[in-house]
Amino acid sequence: MRCDVLTLFPRMISSALDESILKRARDKGLLDVRVTDIRDFTANKRRTADDSPYGGGAGMVLKAEPIVKAVDFIREEEKDLRIILLSPQGRRYDQTTAHELSREERRIVFLCGHYEGIDERVKIILSPEEISIGDYVLTGGELAALVVIDSAVRLIPGVVGDSSSIEEESFNSILDYPHYTRPSEFRGVQVPPVLVSGDHENIRRWRRRQALLNTVRKRPDLLSGEILTEEDRELLEEIKEEESL
Ligand code: SAM
Repeated sequence: MRCDVLTLFPRMISSALDESILKRARDKGLLDVRVTDIRDFTANKRRTADDSPYGGGAGMVLKAEPIVKAVDFIREEEKDLRIILLSPQGRRYDQTTAHELSREERRIVFLCGHYEGIDERVKIILSPEEISIGDYVLTGGELAALVVIDSAVRLIPGVVGDSSSIEEESFNSILDYPHYTRPSEFRGVQVPPVLVSGDHENIRRWRRRQALLNTVRKRPDLLSGEILTEEDRELLEEIKEEESL
């Protein structure tokens, strides 16, 4: 995955890129990210990238010129870009889009807003896709860009060591099952005995049942589009009886 992040706060992005899976993906050459300070494209001495809103009102607005110039600069290298504006008004981000971005061949340019947002002309001129990471308002687009990059990069083959952990986790179809690690007892709570039984078939069935149970309890809406196996249907029947649904 190749991307640029345009931001007023480059260190917020670069510090996260230097940790954990994102760092590993970069070291392996599976993620190439360039972080650009929008201020580098300002035309004034004080490197001012924001100004007060026309029409009055609270807060500051990111100026259009430095953002559009920064994108022009990237376009000199590569014409066909996928431009994404992080915005609470955007399409809600989900795992399907994460998969799609993980396979994106074009360079992705993330535009991070701040303050009241960006001058509307950035949208008119660049026609970016708008993506929201949820129905709440962040201070800036930086955390949202990191959420999107992190969730997409970990789906690129080779980034996460054991690919089965990706295949089994939440949102690939239903929610994930519960995980336990040593010690086998903590504050009086035991690990479910099946997990230490060594019976792999029982463990597999228990995990699938727990995944279905989690989904029934927390996100029943996910089951509606799910293609369930014969075994899933049996397990769901058992669960529904137990939960008196
Ligand atoms: N005045 C804007 C509005 O009400 O739509 C909110 C501006 S917000 C304080 C500043 C920036 O944070 C936005 O331009 C956007 O880049 C980012 N942002 C805030 N919430 C977001 C969300 N839920 N998803 C993605 N980006 C978000």
